[in-house]
Amino acid sequence: MFDPQRAFVEPVLVWWTANGRDGLPWRDSDRTAFHLLVAEILLQRTTATAVADAYRPFVARYPTPEAVTAAPTEDIEQRIDRLGLVKRAEFIERAASQIIDSHGGDVPCEYADLVTLYGVGDYSARSVLIHVDGAGIAAVDVNVRRLLSRFFGIDADADALEPLADALAPTDRSSDFQHAMLDFAADVCTARSPQCESCPIEEHCQKEI
Ligand code: SF4
Repeated sequence: MFDPQRAFVEPVLVWWTANGRDGLPWRDSDRTAFHLLVAEILLQRTTATAVADAYRPFVARYPTPEAVTAAPTEDIEQRIDRLGLVKRAEFIERAASQIIDSHGGDVPCEYADLVTLYGVGDYSARSVLIHVDGAGIAAVDVNVRRLLSRFFGIDADADALEPLADALAPTDRSSDFQHAMLDFAADVCTARSPQCESCPIEEHCQKEI
């Protein structure tokens, strides 16, 4: 009988343990919830490689919401200007102000509060809950959507993909699982050239080649 944990979750985690991406600084164990929130705002519609270079100096200079709100807007913009992300400076500044004004300076840990922050949508809120609080849920971006859609043979636009991802997420390793799905989708189940012949979950994949 088909068991999605054995057919999908476990082998993707095994693959990730050996092949997961290193060097993405927002995955460092010493990053704070605010650092992760900054990364999520910068990563929207931007590649991880591009953001990696800007993220480190940004959070070193502005490690807290207070440091962000104390800085002149043009200084914040300069730090991320090379990414072509000047608009995100406003998102980060406004979110930092909200965190100070409404949450005592701490990134909130409730979904309903997170999505009220400027520049924070469903995916970013879920990422914070997964990676900071260990919530046993998943976050579905376009890459995770492609992977799940192909493997489970579900339309990529189907609303069913989000609850499916949540159901798959192991409660004790949801952060690893989220990273594993992102890395697997980026390196194996790619948009244009999926590596089906060497794919460790090919046996049960529903994609029609
Ligand atoms: S077999 Fe191909 S389409 Fe299916 S999950 Fe693997 S890489 Fe993606």
